[in-house]
Amino acid sequence: MLEIRFHGRGGQGAVVASELLAQAVFFDGKVAQSFPFFGVERRGAPVTAFTRIDDHPIELRSFIEHPDVVVVLDPGLLRDTPVTGGLKPGGLLLVNSPQAPGAFSLPQGGTLATVDATRIAVGRKVGTATMPVVNTAMLGALARVTGAFTEASLERAIVAFVPSHPEENRAAARDGAESVRMEPVAPSSRPSPPSEEAAPLPFPEGPVASLPSNILHTSSWRTLRPVIDRDRCTRCNFCWEFCPDDAFDFDAEGFPVVKLLYCKGCGICATECPPDAIQMVTEA
Ligand code: SF4
Ligand code: SF4
Repeated sequence: MLEIRFHGRGGQGAVVASELLAQAVFFDGKVAQSFPFFGVERRGAPVTAFTRIDDHPIELRSFIEHPDVVVVLDPGLLRDTPVTGGLKPGGLLLVNSPQAPGAFSLPQGGTLATVDATRIAVGRKVGTATMPVVNTAMLGALARVTGAFTEASLERAIVAFVPSHPEENRAAARDGAESVRMEPVAPSSRPSPPSEEAAPLPFPEGPVASLPSNILHTSSWRTLRPVIDRDRCTRCNFCWEFCPDDAFDFDAEGFPVVKLLYCKGCGICATECPPDAIQMVTEA
């Protein structure tokens, strides 16, 4: 059995990636199981999804604690989430990154692979420039580096189950397969992040649901930040009212100011602002 764990953020398509992978596996005549795990938070929150692949019926129903493969859709998660926790020695870590595999480490040894899925998604217009949906590019790369499912079946699954822009998504999958870079890495004495050893189940969502953002700084989730256009702002305070993380202060003139330490980039303030005075921009 091959066990794959996806780590992404809400809006990046981690859950759809695990489902599309399962469909591609079915088209290959194998058996697959896929399911997500996420907390109560919205866009920008960490999301975990799982896929099992086998030639025989799969009886297991548990979360995947010791995956053969970890797929990271947002490289920012590597900073503060133990995404490689439990990864089997000799396993594969595939990261969405423009950097070469050598920029990352895998102390237990195995294979590192990188693909610039964000650039591919933006170029193929999958999602938007500020919220590219990187899942199909990542799946194309995953097909190429694991050989666990065929690229033809992946494209078939995309056409059958992706309702929006299937041709662009197929192209993104092909780009991902063609541009993925892979390097075997020997076990090293380089220390792994402490949290990697400390957390056998690498799911940050539990504490997220139980702690307010002034204690658990969810700003580390942010891929987008709100920028306020003071010329349009009417000082109505709606943004402050709707922000789930109390991430607004006001300056001496009554204009809202975002407290970036607490802002997780969910975009609710931009959605609720009556005069569209808030734009969500990509984090530098
Ligand atoms: S400031 Fe806006 S983007 Fe940030 S957490 Fe609050 S509502 Fe979400
Ligand atoms: S909701 Fe928009 S207009 Fe109202 S205070 Fe916030 S930024 Fe200004």
